[in-house]
Amino acid sequence: MKRTLVFVLAIALMLFAAVSCAPEVPHEHEWDAGEVTTPPTCGAPGEKTYHCTGCEETKTEPIAATGAHQWDAGQVTTNPTETTDGVRTFTCTVCGGHKTEPEPKLAICVATFAEFEQAFTAIHAEGETRTTIYLTADITWDAEKYDGSTAEKTFSPDMTGLTLNLGGNTISGIANKAFAPTGNTFTIKNGSVLLATGLSTTYLKAITVNFSETLTYADHTTDAEQAKAVTFDGITTNGCLYLGGGVFRIKDSTINSYGTKTRGLCAYSAYVDVTNSTIVATNGEVAIHVRDTVLNLNNGTTVTSPTHGIQAYYQSTLTTTGTVTITAAGAGYDIYLNYGPNTVNIGSGTSISGATKGVFALTFGDEVTIADGAAITGPAGGVEPKYTAAGYTAASGTASTNGYVGWSKGNNNTSDTAHITDNRPL
Ligand SMILES: [Zn+2]
Ligand SMILES: [Zn+2]
Repeated sequence: MKRTLVFVLAIALMLFAAVSCAPEVPHEHEWDAGEVTTPPTCGAPGEKTYHCTGCEETKTEPIAATGAHQWDAGQVTTNPTETTDGVRTFTCTVCGGHKTEPEPKLAICVATFAEFEQAFTAIHAEGETRTTIYLTADITWDAEKYDGSTAEKTFSPDMTGLTLNLGGNTISGIANKAFAPTGNTFTIKNGSVLLATGLSTTYLKAITVNFSETLTYADHTTDAEQAKAVTFDGITTNGCLYLGGGVFRIKDSTINSYGTKTRGLCAYSAYVDVTNSTIVATNGEVAIHVRDTVLNLNNGTTVTSPTHGIQAYYQSTLTTTGTVTITAAGAGYDIYLNYGPNTVNIGSGTSISGATKGVFALTFGDEVTIADGAAITGPAGGVEPKYTAAGYTAASGTASTNGYVGWSKGNNNTSDTAHITDNRPL
């Protein structure tokens, strides 16, 4: 009985095994619609997986790559500076991938005179949007090519709308009158522009900006004219800054003369605003010489000369505002007026130290007004004041030296009177 049971169990087991091991019935797989198991990207194919509806079988088929990346316009992820490239990051609109490219630096950078010269051609090239030329090193002027002797030998780039950033560097070795940028609404800033050493020392010009066609003296106080102003910002020169026919702003700068019988700043038929700057004729004849010009000396400005401080000729107007110091240490006047009438307004924060000859030289028709608070110190031994609170009227022939006020007769006098209104308390 026991033996029979074992036999029956063995048979059952064998039958079970026989059924389980039976070969599958062959059939045509019926594939379903499949599903994307690996999405394709722009660079790599994907994969689709199909399942048979009749068995467990699967198969895969590749899905073609979606093709080249579709880059967007990108955005600047690291800002460029005038001298270093930035980074622009592009994103693929298909796969979300990224790539980067350099974002061009903001200025055309130059390190030699040849590059400096070429940069002005490059910056005017079609499609060029940059507006700054930047010195990345000191450069030496090509004085053989541009010696300033003729128009052809003068370097006169059109700088309309441009900025020349000297980058704290120096252009040295400039020949007299050789650097004469043209145009309007331009800026030269942040460095030194120096004449060559050993030049003759008469009226040397380091930078000449003269009579742009679209800048006129006629009405330089309008917004439109002021908007065209040429700006010198943070520059140092060792020769005359020679300006004419336009609106000029000078700030945070040091303008020095060159040698003897030279001037610091010269302006003709111009409107000149000077702020926080030093205008000096270290060994020269006069620190500032203007004709037919509106000259505003604003806060922080110092005018120093061993001879005359300021010469203002031909219907010029001089106004001082804020803290302004005028020192003419030697054999001249602080403010030398000639070919009048000229107008002078001395503000309350102005200090004037008299030269040997005197504080003012007057000529016909001049009107000088001194605000209360101005500090005026005449030369030692001078008679203070020749003028009074009620005013002082100079007459023709007044001695050219009287301590404070002299007489500068000039040419073609039409009226031999001039007037000082001194509003300081007696
Ligand atoms: Zn199947
Ligand atoms: Zn992509």
